[in-house]
Amino acid sequence: MSISPSSSSGKNKSPQVSAGLDHLETRLSDLGWLPSPRVRSLNRFGLNTLEDLLTHFPRRYEDRREFDRFPRDETEKPVCICGNVIKTASKRFQGWRFLFEVTLQETAADGSANVLSGQIVCRWYNVHFVKKMIAEGQRLVVYGRPRRRGRTLVIEHPEFEVVEPDAEASIHLRRITPIHPATEGITARMLRGWIHRLLADLPDLPSPLPPGLAGVPYAEALRAIHFPENWEELHRARRDLVLAEFFQMQLFVVAKRAEVVLRPGLSHCGPGRLVEAFQRQLPFPLTGAQARAIGEIRADLAAPRPMNRILHGDVGSGKTVVALSAMLLAVEAGFQAAIMAPTQILAEQHYLHFKHWLEPLGIRVALRTGSRKEESALPLFDEQAWNTAVREGDHARRAELLKRSGGDEPQIVVGTHALLYEGVSLPRLGLAVIDEQHKFGVLQRAALTRHASVPDVLVMTATPIPRTLTMTLFGDLDVSTLDELPANRGKIITAARDASKLPDAIEFIKKYLAQGRQAYVVYPLIDESAKMEAKAAAAEFEKWQAVLSPHRCELLHGRIAPEEKDAIMERFRRNESQVLIATTVIEVGIDVPNATLMLIENAERFGLAQLHQLRGRVGRGSHKSYCILIHAADTPEGLEKMKTLEATSNGFEIAEADLRLRGPGDLLGTDQSGLPPLKIGDVLADTELMQLARTTAQQLFAADPELAWPENLRFRKSLAEKRKLALAHVS
Ligand code: ADP
Ligand code: MG
Repeated sequence: MSISPSSSSGKNKSPQVSAGLDHLETRLSDLGWLPSPRVRSLNRFGLNTLEDLLTHFPRRYEDRREFDRFPRDETEKPVCICGNVIKTASKRFQGWRFLFEVTLQETAADGSANVLSGQIVCRWYNVHFVKKMIAEGQRLVVYGRPRRRGRTLVIEHPEFEVVEPDAEASIHLRRITPIHPATEGITARMLRGWIHRLLADLPDLPSPLPPGLAGVPYAEALRAIHFPENWEELHRARRDLVLAEFFQMQLFVVAKRAEVVLRPGLSHCGPGRLVEAFQRQLPFPLTGAQARAIGEIRADLAAPRPMNRILHGDVGSGKTVVALSAMLLAVEAGFQAAIMAPTQILAEQHYLHFKHWLEPLGIRVALRTGSRKEESALPLFDEQAWNTAVREGDHARRAELLKRSGGDEPQIVVGTHALLYEGVSLPRLGLAVIDEQHKFGVLQRAALTRHASVPDVLVMTATPIPRTLTMTLFGDLDVSTLDELPANRGKIITAARDASKLPDAIEFIKKYLAQGRQAYVVYPLIDESAKMEAKAAAAEFEKWQAVLSPHRCELLHGRIAPEEKDAIMERFRRNESQVLIATTVIEVGIDVPNATLMLIENAERFGLAQLHQLRGRVGRGSHKSYCILIHAADTPEGLEKMKTLEATSNGFEIAEADLRLRGPGDLLGTDQSGLPPLKIGDVLADTELMQLARTTAQQLFAADPELAWPENLRFRKSLAEKRKLALAHVS
């Protein structure tokens, strides 16, 4: 290994230190040699134990065996250079701006003091602490992209490290040097030193992988990931560590899946007469895709094992009808069905639609959201008789009991996602539909399966999730896809325009308003605080009302009281108001076919998927629709976002572009899943390792379902810890 035995940690090794190192759970404060202010900073950074620090992986590496030559011109790729500080200067300008400038002189790449001809300027704006760190005569390692600024070649806000002429130079220089994620009070250089010291004392560690899977011993992989001798070694170490991380995750997922499958499920499917009646009264025929999805769901509902299905369908593809059909099948079998929407407005809208469609069929629908319950307690319900009917599989009797319950027991419950957390008891729940789920935390599902008998679960989303991700978080999830839009859809034309073109856009909108169409104007929330939001909204509203008069505008945002929101939506639906000035509260589900125009302000501030969702509010009738994106995008990513939206309205293509632009983090929603975020694995790039981790976890469980074999006890332990974490998250 490259770690030199002469490093400082080797010299003053104390007995306690080695003792502590045997236990990865040892707290950093107990190591004895980390100064306590630093320990506090590390703790704030989420690093508490030895293991935390050892698995605090580098975010990149610099090959400091051979620095780049000083660039002569701009480059796209960042350079990593080393040179002497020959001048520093600081100045104030524009009253409050502050500039700190460092001129670097190139020295020979071999680390000798020989001066070469290259020079470059490093600049920092408004970062005062840098000035305190850099002085003339020092040597600096600098990493960044050189840019031409007039006649000078400049690196703005480079990453840098001062080369200290100390005994630890061998840790930081002339090697492939790890750059660890740093934080306030903790530099990458400090982290490197500490981790180096820990590694030097590290004894053999038990492998986090089952036998035969790891390429090198665990301690060896940890050494090589932080201080690789060469790139191949780094690559091998990374493979082992990614695999170990995925394996831990898959243990959790597979265990969860096994648990759910083992729980006695019930058949939640009636004979289908209600569904037929419902579909007959629809003013349109189902699309082929809708009929197919309903068929797939029906088969799941009928089977006694719990359904675990996701329904993908672009905005406007008609997911609600599919959900309703599924819910009616469950109702007919004598169960309750619930649908949970992400926002109050959407829940209320579902509620109104459902009442309209279902009350003629004699179905009771209830709304339960955080702020109000349109439904009272259930005193008359014969719980015992119902339970007996469940045991005996008598769905006619169950349906009868629910129906007879004095008009109090709802058969269909509409609510927000909060229904899941607020401990609302739905003891007769047979089917739970989770609508417009953009993030796929395992959390909600965990909450649902707390109920006595496992309900069937249908998750609906307009965001297609790559196969790797569904596999990652749910084990195998069944998927139905609505790949066909209803036939009567008008086209949506999308145009991205620079902010200076806003007046043209307003004229355009006025033209269509004059023809009787309606419009949405969406603006991003500028400030989260209630007071600011109300103020910003009011200002927006006045601006628009003034330019669009005599057409009537109304304002809709998250802080408006629910009753008032209803009234506003209702007036818009009835075309008593023509323009809705709104925040993203209209993002999902609102459905007014005559609204064919949408203008989105500051579109660059929204995510791609979100813009697509917003745009889905128009194009719901047979008229041609328009979406105008007013933006101030000036980054390549921002511009690509706008181009993508202009080029396609296909949700799958957009989701892919989004994934490319932003990575999977948002989609995974690990922060709400209860699982810690991945530290090293990349679910998109490391698909094969994920697959391997998955089969390994499955085989392990198949052979030893209780993880009771001595060699599996360590996995059982880590699983129990993950469970604890996830549960702590739920409650
Ligand atoms: P989403 O998939 O975005 O949730 P919705 O379920 O809200 O879409 O459906 C959008 C609109 O399309 C609704 O007005 C709905 O009544 C209508 N719709 C659904 N299915 C069809 C169909 N087969 N033919 C015509 N219109 C349909
Ligand atoms: Mg919908």
